[in-house]
Amino acid sequence: MNIKALNGFKDVLPGEVEQWQRVETAARDIFARFNFSEIRLPILEKTDLFARAIGETTDIVEKEMYTFVDKQVTMRPEATASLLRAYIEHGLHVQKPVQRLFTIGPMFRHERPQKGRLRQFHQMDVEVLGSADPRVDAELMAMGALLLHELGLSVTLEMNSLGCPACRPAFRTALLTFLEERHESLCDDCKRRSSTNPLRVLDCKNPRCREQVLEAPSLLDFLCAGCADHLRLVQEGLEQLGVVYSLNKFMVRGLDYYTRTTFEFITADLGAQAAVGAGGRYDGLVEQLGGPKVSGIGFALGMERLVLLLQQQETEAASASPALFVAGIGEQASGYAFGLTHALRRAGMAVAMDLEGRSLKSQMKQAGKLKAANVLIIGDDELAASLAQIRNMNTQQQQNVELQETAATVQALLQLTSSSPLTSTSI
Ligand code: ATP
Ligand code: MG
Repeated sequence: MNIKALNGFKDVLPGEVEQWQRVETAARDIFARFNFSEIRLPILEKTDLFARAIGETTDIVEKEMYTFVDKQVTMRPEATASLLRAYIEHGLHVQKPVQRLFTIGPMFRHERPQKGRLRQFHQMDVEVLGSADPRVDAELMAMGALLLHELGLSVTLEMNSLGCPACRPAFRTALLTFLEERHESLCDDCKRRSSTNPLRVLDCKNPRCREQVLEAPSLLDFLCAGCADHLRLVQEGLEQLGVVYSLNKFMVRGLDYYTRTTFEFITADLGAQAAVGAGGRYDGLVEQLGGPKVSGIGFALGMERLVLLLQQQETEAASASPALFVAGIGEQASGYAFGLTHALRRAGMAVAMDLEGRSLKSQMKQAGKLKAANVLIIGDDELAASLAQIRNMNTQQQQNVELQETAATVQALLQLTSSSPLTSTSI
């Protein structure tokens, strides 16, 4: 029986996994610099949590969730709802008036798999709970932009304001009127959506719908004084921090909970999968889920898309090559190499060795494949004379290494492999 991974579920193999690690390491570093703490959340939650948080008439809840119907539980399609559930459940607002949290892990959505769109995908998600300050919005966008910049990726930032429950209804009415006039030209999804969730039509990817909504009213013209002020201050903050962005009046995002600021990091290099990250403010959501009346804002970056961009934009992957390959030739030498390798690893060096008793030629080949920086060659005769040879694989220079007692040999080798190219002074 030949069992393969499910459609839309993907293994990350060595060779690619280094890029994932690079993305995650860069993110953890930035999150720490911005004073965020990690939170780890379960993958399975009550279905009701997502239906209530994300919205019954969103694509995610209507058609993308992995739900076990008999148990009324769902594999999380995004992180915000789960994170808020945990925030409320553990009274995290009592511990700290402003919580800055991040979480990294897999999400599940039953959509049509394609490049940059999987059924199990991974997000790095950041949330700030307890602050309505527009500077937090600017700070978060600046943090996302900085991370993408440090990864060497060129991505643009688009922003919009979705207003609040005070000003959105008037916009909704104006939009409904606008859409009614164009009802026949919309795609089937949008025909249905235009009455249940008209804002979503603005976000439809169908080219015909896109054309239809070009002249649609803009929420920006309907903002109440509070929302307009908030937007102005966010823009001032972005300017102060030197963050480049553009306003996009069509961006509504696929989740119902957003208020005021919404934003997306966009790339031109992944076809239809243009958003590498997205988020926004959700000032009423914590309360709606039964928690305290606190503001919130967050965003999530899609790791698959970041890795694809890293591959496409050909930035250097961090190499996992060993600093040293220990080649023991002969039974005695191989036994000695086994112990020395462990001592070197304990001392912090990345070391590879062959355990199959292969020939010197074959071991040198192996070292080359692994891109080992140096090879230590020990034969039985050399071992008897307490000598070995070390070869710098870059310069092909070779020199003797005296095999002393283990600790001293480890020290000598640490020193030799850290100075590259090898000098000709022997030890
Ligand atoms: P899209 O418009 O591409 O479907 P979305 O608006 O549904 O994205 P969000 O829910 O905002 O996405 O999730 C934030 C990020 O997670 C996206 O910008 C994207 O990078 C990533 N993402 C979302 N869905 C998927 C998926 N199915 N496969 C891979 N990455 C995804
Ligand atoms: Mg989506």
